Amino acid sequence: MSRIAYVNGRYVRHAEAAVHIEDRGYQFADGVYEVCEIWQGKIVDERRHLDRLERSLRELSIRMPMSRAALSQILRQVVRKNLVRDGIVYMQVTRGVARRDHVFPPADTPPALVITAKPVRPAAGEKAAEQGVAVITVPENRWDRVDIKTVGLLPNVLAKQKAREAGAKEAWFVDADGMVTEGGSTNAWIVTRDNCLVTRPAQSGILKGITRQVVLDMIERAGLTFDERPFSVEEARQAKEAFITAASTLVMPVVRVDDTTIGNGHPGETTMELRKMFHKVSELSSV
Ligand code: PLP
Repeated sequence: MSRIAYVNGRYVRHAEAAVHIEDRGYQFADGVYEVCEIWQGKIVDERRHLDRLERSLRELSIRMPMSRAALSQILRQVVRKNLVRDGIVYMQVTRGVARRDHVFPPADTPPALVITAKPVRPAAGEKAAEQGVAVITVPENRWDRVDIKTVGLLPNVLAKQKAREAGAKEAWFVDADGMVTEGGSTNAWIVTRDNCLVTRPAQSGILKGITRQVVLDMIERAGLTFDERPFSVEEARQAKEAFITAASTLVMPVVRVDDTTIGNGHPGETTMELRKMFHKVSELSSV
């Protein structure tokens, strides 16, 4: 079966899907995106992802390409056409196609919309979670609007490539005060030796992850202790557990930070409990 993509009003074969060379996403990274997990044929936390998409667009003064209801229908069509039961659906909106000029194009320029879906083997994620992953630390070098989920991801790309070359799964950005901000494509967490879950507040320095929010909901429901505050690399090294969160990895245990083994070197108990509970707390909507 060939993959199908949605590109500006048409469903096309993925292999032939293309955008214009003067799409502002291509020329200026002038666009935003979202990724939703598809789990057992359901879209996970669609409402919150679309809320964040609308917010990202508003922050950049880009119009929604269509109504939210229409967008939601196309997401479903793309998932269905690709027969994805477990995987991800990706949507990207850019400021559209216009003669290259830094300033915004005329207000009637239609935003460009691309949606793709791909299957992911759940067993691969489970296997990684059983072993836990390694992270490296890199200096924070991104702009200060990382709260907007833009396609401008070059520092993230370079950091994650560096992680890959070091045999790690993720790179944690570390700010000038030695505090961890977040991963290249994930939010960062630790569990302290007295069982307090710690993650950086979403006011600055991070993307307000949807998975992060669901984990905060789970923590409150379970009555666990947590603290939304920045933590240092040193504190992470001393932590009992560490983990990362994202729609594509869910709750993924971290067992090494640079050269330091975290806890006993195995995925932590609290982390794995949260991973297990995740789909019981997230919002699932039918495709
Ligand atoms: N932080 C960054 C930089 C990301 O790119 C992502 C996801 O792509 C996240 C955090 C996690 O966000 P979410 O849980 O909404 O997937």
